[in-house]
Parts: sequence; C-alpha cells; structure tokens
Amino acid sequence: MARLILNQLGKDFGSGRAAVSGFSLEVREGGFLALLGPSGCGKTTVLRMIAGFETPSDGSIHLGERLLADAAQSLPPEKRNMAMVFQSYALWPHMSVADNVGYPLKVRGISGEAYRTKVGDALGTVRLADYAKRRPADLSGGQRQRVALARCLVTSPDVVLLDEPLANLDRHLKQEMEETFREFHQRSGATMIYVTHDQSEAMALATDVAVMSEGRLLQVAPPAEIYARPEGRVVGGLIGRGAIMTLPRPFGDGRALDWPALEPMFAAAAGAASGDRVDVLVRPEDVVSGENIAAGEGIAATVESVLFEGERYALKLVLADSQVLRAYTRFPVRTGDSLRLSVRAAWRL
Ligand code: ADP
Ligand code: MG
Repeated sequence: MARLILNQLGKDFGSGRAAVSGFSLEVREGGFLALLGPSGCGKTTVLRMIAGFETPSDGSIHLGERLLADAAQSLPPEKRNMAMVFQSYALWPHMSVADNVGYPLKVRGISGEAYRTKVGDALGTVRLADYAKRRPADLSGGQRQRVALARCLVTSPDVVLLDEPLANLDRHLKQEMEETFREFHQRSGATMIYVTHDQSEAMALATDVAVMSEGRLLQVAPPAEIYARPEGRVVGGLIGRGAIMTLPRPFGDGRALDWPALEPMFAAAAGAASGDRVDVLVRPEDVVSGENIAAGEGIAATVESVLFEGERYALKLVLADSQVLRAYTRFPVRTGDSLRLSVRAAWRL
C-alpha cells in the first residue's frame, strides 16, 4: 500500500470545457477522503480516472512510486488493485452471501483454505459472519450494502473507491450506513475515496474533505478545519450553513439605515478593517438573537422562515437591505416576527 498521488490531472471529453483540470491531490495511505462538490463538477470523472475506466488527457496518477496513468499510458483497471463500489449493489440474486463476496476471488483463481479465510474475514469486517448462507433477497438494504463492501474488501485492494453509494437511501438507513462506512474504514484500514454531493455526509464520514467545483479542486482539509476556515465563497457556501455577505454594504437608499452601525461589527468579527472590501461568512451559531441582546444594541431583522429541528429552530432572517442571515434559537418564533440580532464571530473568506 502507498499513498495515491494525482498530479495536475485533467480530462477533456472534447465538449469545449474540460470536465477536470489542474487537479492535484494526495491521499495518504489509510486515509478516508471525501470528494465533495455539486452535481456535474467532475467527481465521477476523477474517480473513473483513478480506477482506470477513463484515461487522463493531462497529468498523472501514481500509487506510491508506481505510475498508474498519464496522457500517454494507462494501466487497465484489473491491474490497479482497486475496488469500486457503486450505488446499486449489483449482487447476484441466485448466489449466497458468501458466494457473492467470494466471487472476485474465484475470478482470480483463488480457492480452498485461502478462499474460505478471506471470505470469512471480509464478512467479519462488515459484521455479517452469521449471514454467509443467506441470499441477498433475505437481507435488508443496509445488509446488502455491507455484502457489497465485503465483496470489494475480499481482494485486499490498495484503494476503495465509492461513488455516491448512499445517494438514494432514506435518511434513517443513510445514518446507519454512515456508521457502517466509518467502521469499515477503521476495521479494514483501507485507503478510501468517497464521492458525494452531500456535505453533511462528507463531514460525518471522512478524515479529509476535498471540495471541487467546475472541474477544479478548491480546498482539502479535515472536516473541522474546512468548516472553521473555508477558503473562498464557493467552499464557504458549500460547507455547513451560513450566510455570505460582501462588505462594505451599500447604503444610502434609506432602507439600510442600520448598516453604518453594523459595518464595524461584521468587519471586527471577521478580523477585517472597517471599510475593507471583503466577503465574510456568518455561521448561524455565531448569530445571537432576541432576548440575549442588550437594549439599544444589535440590529433589526425579520424572520422569513422557521424550520423546527426538534432541539432548536433554524431561522432565516432578513435585514433591512435584504441581506439574509441564518440563526438558531431554542425559543419558538414565527414567520414575520421582528427581532434584534448581533454577530459574535464571522469568517473572512
Ligand atoms: P459529477 O460526478 O460531479 O456529477 P461527472 O464527472 O459525471 O460529474 O461529469 C463532469 C462533466 O463531464 C459533466 O459536464 C459531464 O457532462 C461530462 N462528462 C462526464 N462523462 C462524460 C463522457 N463520457 N463523455 C462526455 N462528457 C462527459
Ligand atoms: Mg457523479
């Protein structure tokens, strides 16, 4: 095993705009990287180049010292020792769980004791040792996904590639499967690359999150860091909840009377000088609202929408100049209510 190195990777399908360009990234051995970005940004194309189903137009892919592909040559998928898990589990319905898991070994001519040990280990890793003799039809959706994981693990791949494996699952099963993926990563020690457009999934699962947009890599960092210190408007908008605003705010049309007083508050929270032209990100947990504001402080906002989340209410607030902010409160408020708010911290993008 070794780290996976993508260097200035590019893919042009000839449509005039490259699907992937200048994409450089290292995934350490045993790492769990989430590749996050909106639909159509090039995630699957990156994954398919890593797997060997697509040849790069530019750049190179190395596993440790070994060249897997560049524009001139490309090792076929079966020589890369990688496994790809698709959204549809693609299990054989007429085979038992154990036979499904062992199938890639059969294809490679592995049999006997080695076969039984590997299948047993793989089933143990996904906690399905007791289900070896069942058919896929007798299993729940989550268990079937675990069979698919065991099947990809059985050949001890250097890298496991997953392309939006949970995209169509309901919320409950999704949470269960997130646990399974995390545990699978810990128990197998496999290097994993997990493609998703769901930021909460990426944050919950991975040790590192790589954010891409329009074929390019924007930022790679551990979840907590990318949440606290997103770089630029696109990452700031994709990761977590929050509102982005550009300072200084325009005012003077009579509607935005609060802004002159507010401007220094946001600038200071973001560590910028008042009057600087900057984009700042304000997270809902940094917006203080309602009864916690001292008399005469803060600014007025109108509640545009309220989402009840059980333990709290998530508010969408609108300021006098139409700027949107998001906030949380534990107390019920209604759409159309006016309240005062202030900002504890903001991040300069
Ligand atoms: P994502 O997985 O992030 O949704 P894709 O990698 O599937 O994005 O697609 C990125 C871009 O490349 C899209 O504009 C898509 O239409 C284009 N694309 C992907 N595969 C092909 C292909 N085989 N031929 C032509 N264009 C493609
Ligand atoms: Mg895709």
